[in-house]
Amino acid sequence: MNLVFEAPAVPTVAVVGTDARFPVHRIYCVGRNYAEHAKEMGFTGREPPFFFMKPADAVVPAGAGGAVTIPYATLTSNLHHEVELVVAIGTGGASIPAARAHEHIFGYAVGLDMTRRDLQNDMKKQGRPWCIGKGFDHSAPIGAITRATEAGTIEQAAIALTVNGQPRQSSRVDQLIWTIGEVIEHLSAAWTLQPGDLIYTGTPEGVGAVVKGDRIEARVDGLAPLTVVVA
Ligand code: MN
Repeated sequence: MNLVFEAPAVPTVAVVGTDARFPVHRIYCVGRNYAEHAKEMGFTGREPPFFFMKPADAVVPAGAGGAVTIPYATLTSNLHHEVELVVAIGTGGASIPAARAHEHIFGYAVGLDMTRRDLQNDMKKQGRPWCIGKGFDHSAPIGAITRATEAGTIEQAAIALTVNGQPRQSSRVDQLIWTIGEVIEHLSAAWTLQPGDLIYTGTPEGVGAVVKGDRIEARVDGLAPLTVVVA
């Protein structure tokens, strides 16, 4: 095919135990999927899951050793960390029932849904899209993907984040309001999932601001840890 300029490279993520990389198609994110985080954001009660997206090239894949550096985002003075379990889709599909969701999962990773909280809050107040608060460049750091068969019982895993060694977020994946299967059921009713899709499943309580020079360490037990330095 003749292109008017060179097509950009597909963003890719490392996979534990192989040199082969995971090509990213889309990034879906679930909003308010842990009850204690929903409360800290001013919401209570079980609401249907809702989704937003980040561009695929917002991923910042960790290099060897699980560490990566991101720039402090422009336009914000309240850049927040949100540690999340990321589900990596290996087999696409539409209208996938929760009970069959596992057949579509390639693996799991630790991710950060970096958020310009001040801009997100402004957009919420005005009823405008969250894109500028959520879908900006470098907003989706991610650690290496562990294959589902090697990830253990991820549904029970501890999930945690520290900043400069100080605990900020600590919970368990079993505190998800909507389970991984239910998320995939709802998501695949709205979009046809494709191999390469990443799903950031939501963050537990304890979100907060970072500043330049901070070192964020994020983990989900059973997965490769992720270290993000804010430069
Ligand atoms: Mn999030």
